[in-house]
Amino acid sequence: MEAMESIPRHYFLDSAFAEQAYTDKAFSIGNGQTISQPYTVAYQTELLEVKRGTKVLEIGTGSGYQASILCQLGAEVYTIERIAELADSASHILAHLNCHANLFVGDGTLGLPNHAPYDRILVTAAAPEIPFPLLYQLAVGGWLIIPLGNLDLQTMVKITRLGENDFTREDFEEFRFVPLKGEAGW
Ligand code: SAH
Repeated sequence: MEAMESIPRHYFLDSAFAEQAYTDKAFSIGNGQTISQPYTVAYQTELLEVKRGTKVLEIGTGSGYQASILCQLGAEVYTIERIAELADSASHILAHLNCHANLFVGDGTLGLPNHAPYDRILVTAAAPEIPFPLLYQLAVGGWLIIPLGNLDLQTMVKITRLGENDFTREDFEEFRFVPLKGEAGW
């Protein structure tokens, strides 16, 4: 809650929406994408249980808002976005907020193998299945938070890597995200 209070959400929105930046709503950020609703950001952040120094990979940088919250919590942030224009705009805002996230452009369903393993992986778009590469980029003891389902409704799922080839799954509440695209997406 403190991290969210300290980040100016209106920075991440088109000035047309600035007045509504602190309402609990998702907004368009262009290119057919959205900045997630604050409730959803809070929900995913809580499930991540980030501490200072936790290494997190976020799939779907979008506006950069979620990444800035992770920075504020002291995480080491890696984030990947498939739309270069969004990544570009996010990188400027994150730099302005003094958030040193490592931002990449590419297909996040493949993860970011060069910097693996991650303590946490967070997917912020709706996935039809668990992208296989992400499972094996998790540190043992780490977990993946991913909204899994169809295009209309997804269940928030937590996959924990218990051992080399040992994973468990827990299901949480239902949400509606924009689609995850790419090799293991829609
Ligand atoms: N976390 C963002 C939410 C953005 S919405 C925020 O705080 O604003 C989801 C984002 O995922 C969109 O920007 C979309 O372009 C991106 N996305 C979809 N499929 C992707 C993929 N395969 N790799 C990387 N990003 C992807």
